[in-house]
Amino acid sequence: MDLRFTAEEVAFRDEVRTFLREKIPAEIRRKVSEGRGLAKDDIVASQRILNARGWAVPHWPREWGGQDWTPIQRYIYTEEIFQAAVPLPQQFNCYMFGPVLATFGRQDQKERFLPRAANLDDWWCQGFSEPGAGSDLASLKTRAVRDGDHYVVDGQKTWTTLGQHADWIFCLVRTDTEAKKQRGISFLLIDMTSPGVTVRPILTLEGRHEVNEVFFDSVRVPVENLVGEENRGWDYAKFLLANERTGIARIGLTKERMQRIKRLAKAMPAGPGTMWDDPDFRARVAEVEVELKALEITQMRVAAKQGRADSTQPDPASSLLKIRGSQLQQAATELLVELAGPFALAAPDHGAGANNPPGGFDWVDAAAPSYFNNRKVSIYGGSNEIQHNVIAKGILGL
Ligand SMILES: Cc1cc2nc3c(=O)[nH]c(=O)nc-3n(C[C@H](O)[C@H](O)[C@H](O)COP(=O)(O)OP(=O)(O)OC[C@H]3O[C@@H](n4cnc5c(N)ncnc54)[C@H](O)[C@@H]3O)c2cc1C
Repeated sequence: MDLRFTAEEVAFRDEVRTFLREKIPAEIRRKVSEGRGLAKDDIVASQRILNARGWAVPHWPREWGGQDWTPIQRYIYTEEIFQAAVPLPQQFNCYMFGPVLATFGRQDQKERFLPRAANLDDWWCQGFSEPGAGSDLASLKTRAVRDGDHYVVDGQKTWTTLGQHADWIFCLVRTDTEAKKQRGISFLLIDMTSPGVTVRPILTLEGRHEVNEVFFDSVRVPVENLVGEENRGWDYAKFLLANERTGIARIGLTKERMQRIKRLAKAMPAGPGTMWDDPDFRARVAEVEVELKALEITQMRVAAKQGRADSTQPDPASSLLKIRGSQLQQAATELLVELAGPFALAAPDHGAGANNPPGGFDWVDAAAPSYFNNRKVSIYGGSNEIQHNVIAKGILGL
């Protein structure tokens, strides 16, 4: 298999690369590159620039704003986004809710929601996980009971990423308690301003507010907000999870991190303890880069196969990409902490940047928070242990 890009693909890559670097504000890209938290406004501003160019939802059907790109073009686009340190289009709107609605929703739902989702006029969050229903998602207990032309929803979701910004939540709810557990689940759209919805923050290791608990207390949801058929929600969720795994290896992101680590290490003043002079540090940088190259080749093989495969089913090879990709993302943040040395120690009582040494080391205070934040990548989107199970079953046939 020839894994080199064609001349057209190289031209496409250059067009995407130039656009991203010229049009997305440098300040937003700097925050992404340094692993600092983004404000809602940053994410909205970046997505609207992409959407105006027709590039916020290129993988959607054409009539809803998609581009008829090949899997390789999509791969190039995603990698360029990461390498330019541009925020990925809001993942719940663009990679989860949008594809599900475009495939299984009614025409009036598509017209109402899809253009707003693409432009981030509505912010969507994902209400799947519950206490006791994460890896074993089908055990979810949030109930939706029919009452005339409404469902009445009671229960709790957890780990709801950026739910504090959300206008809407797409939820898996139990509509039949008698059926086999996967059979009694429905896919429901809930307005976050509905009476009875409560959002409570969960602070992550680095002290950021990124995830939440969401409680539903007798929330009345119009029946017209059901997606597809009642009790078929599990099928739609499986389709969504297949989409969620797209680009999961985040190779471009780790590449960008590694380039930055080398740049910062080389910029350190020469002398004892300078990390770029440390053969062990350099060997570990090389090791991550070699692993990354190997993963990139695997990713391209999977992308090249994608057009031919049944896209409603995740390719088990995507589990391999998820495991290795998340390990390398984490390895890069470990190297960055090592580079920052003692300055990586948090000084929360002194405020951001207070622990930074003089002389242009204005990045060190973000190293440890970014390291801690990246612990999540081996958990969400299906934990790495679960991905090992998928490989055992789907590839090794165990
Ligand atoms: C930062 C973050 C953001 C998230 N955002 C969202 C979101 O926006 N919306 C949403 O719905 N969910 C979200 N999640 C939830 C995420 O999908 C779950 O955390 C994940 O599926 C794991 O479920 P759990 O936390 O309940 O752990 P559990 O399923 O309880 O697993 C606990 C441990 O046991 C292991 N384990 C479980 N089952 C098996 C098995 N069969 N074989 C081997 N090992 C096993 C797991 O790998 C893990 O190490 C997020 C999670 C995190 C950490």
